[in-house]
Amino acid sequence: MTAPLDVLVVGAGPTGLALAAQLRSYGTAFRILDRSLDRARESRALAIQPRTLEALAGFGVTGELVARGNPAMQLRMHLPRRVVQLPLFDIGLDDTAYPFLLFLSQAETESVLAEHLARQRVVIERGTELVRLERKGLVVTCRLRRGDGTEETVDARYVVGCDGAHSTVRGQADIGFEGYAYPQTFLLADLEADGLEPGAVHMYMTGSGVLLFFPLGSPATWRMLTMGLPGAPEREVTLPLLQEITDPYSTDRLVLRDPVWMTDFRLHNRGAAHYRSGPCFLAGDAAHIHSPAGAQGMNTGIQDALNLGWKLALVCRGAAPEELLETYEAERAPVGRSVRRFTNRAFVIGTSRDPLIRFARTRLAPRLAPTALRAKGTRGRVFRTVSELGIHYRRSPATTAGSRAPVRGPRAGDRLPDMPRGLQARTAGTGYHVLLAGPTRIWSDERIAAVLNGRTDLLAVHRLGEESPWPGVAHGLVRPDGYLGYVARGADLTGLRAYLDQWLPAGACS
Ligand SMILES: Cc1cc2nc3c(=O)[nH]c(=O)nc-3n(C[C@H](O)[C@H](O)[C@H](O)COP(=O)(O)OP(=O)(O)OC[C@H]3O[C@@H](n4cnc5c(N)ncnc54)[C@H](O)[C@@H]3O)c2cc1C
Repeated sequence: MTAPLDVLVVGAGPTGLALAAQLRSYGTAFRILDRSLDRARESRALAIQPRTLEALAGFGVTGELVARGNPAMQLRMHLPRRVVQLPLFDIGLDDTAYPFLLFLSQAETESVLAEHLARQRVVIERGTELVRLERKGLVVTCRLRRGDGTEETVDARYVVGCDGAHSTVRGQADIGFEGYAYPQTFLLADLEADGLEPGAVHMYMTGSGVLLFFPLGSPATWRMLTMGLPGAPEREVTLPLLQEITDPYSTDRLVLRDPVWMTDFRLHNRGAAHYRSGPCFLAGDAAHIHSPAGAQGMNTGIQDALNLGWKLALVCRGAAPEELLETYEAERAPVGRSVRRFTNRAFVIGTSRDPLIRFARTRLAPRLAPTALRAKGTRGRVFRTVSELGIHYRRSPATTAGSRAPVRGPRAGDRLPDMPRGLQARTAGTGYHVLLAGPTRIWSDERIAAVLNGRTDLLAVHRLGEESPWPGVAHGLVRPDGYLGYVARGADLTGLRAYLDQWLPAGACS
């Protein structure tokens, strides 16, 4: 009998590709498959958030993403008598190397990730569909079907459904997907528009809703997004219909032409009842879908994957206890819920016909936002949420605050800031990283050896000296996903050692 595969990744969208990259970096035995023969060519998500760029930097792909994208985008808000300009770069955050929203189409993002996997000799099994799952003791038996009709049965220890909104894994694992559909119909088109200044995002806000144009470049200059005509019967999306909808928004006539792609769709706000059922996990759109307001969907999916991948990798190689896998849902389900709440709020503000919200949208927001966002501090606070840099796991069972917390600086459960600059790069390698702050003479070799206790494979130690995120003498442990698992003031490493004994037991096979 052949040994079961460690992990089967179902779906090679951005979530599955990111998961595969992380499993590969740990040498985990896995397969990744996708029912479609080719990756998606139409562009869906258009922006990559700073936290995603940080998280992908460990694979060495962030430079390529930035090179292919546009990190210097302006938002132009068109008001009845003036146009207000807001930068989507220089977002007021100085603890990241990527203080901008990177505009890059999802097709390009997937292409960069797929090229990385190809260099790592990972084969994406395209034209291969998961059709059935069955739990049998400690393994999941998976039935796969190829485009030519042939079938194969694979036994895996874990299966991760990165298979999108209509997830087969979710259905087979009998996990609910509760939520609601928004009543409005949305229209999307890739086309040319005469009268728009190139190289900026254009937003028109009126009482009837919002009209957006995003610079796309290819296959057309603009991606247009708006709502259908209120109260009008559903009509086929045509260029005349799009022009009819556009005209009332703009005082300067915009002429739409040469559409490459036009579609309409309904938006949903739904979340999986659980992110895990036994050996089956859900990540990305399989676990949460919501409105595209705030450009969170793809980013949240990639970060789900990068929260789960190292946990699966360490458990599969016997270096971490099974309980580590329980922390995936504990950490990521609250993030999914908060993204659904946040995108719903933005969606309601952008679309509601309630007189008060219409007044806020058309009168208050355009007047107040530019002044408020001019101050770097306010801009930083607003963008910390959108950029996903503010995500933390302070209440997770896999993060622990020492008995004495440092007076300032990041806490257990926070992301390690890139402050001083370069700290994230130093700790980007696989495994955990111990950070020792304060005069280096305090951190003797004996003290460090007692913490390492033979765990040299997955544990690196960095003496930071005074160049540290905390003032004075302190120590912390960076998890493989760049979040702080443990933080304490002083030089007593007893608490850190207890943390490691729980989550990275010495002597466990690695
Ligand atoms: C029109 C549109 C516009 C969008 N705009 C934005 C935006 O502006 N910003 C943003 O952040 N997000 C946006 N999104 C959402 C974003 O595209 C998704 O959040 C993102 O694609 C989720 O990635 P994923 O890998 O989780 O799922 P997907 O990209 O859906 O990938 C799932 C993959 O699984 C495969 N699959 C499914 N079932 C099986 C099976 N049984 N066996 C094998 N393979 C299977 C599919 O073929 C697919 O390749 C938009 C989405 C749409 C549709």
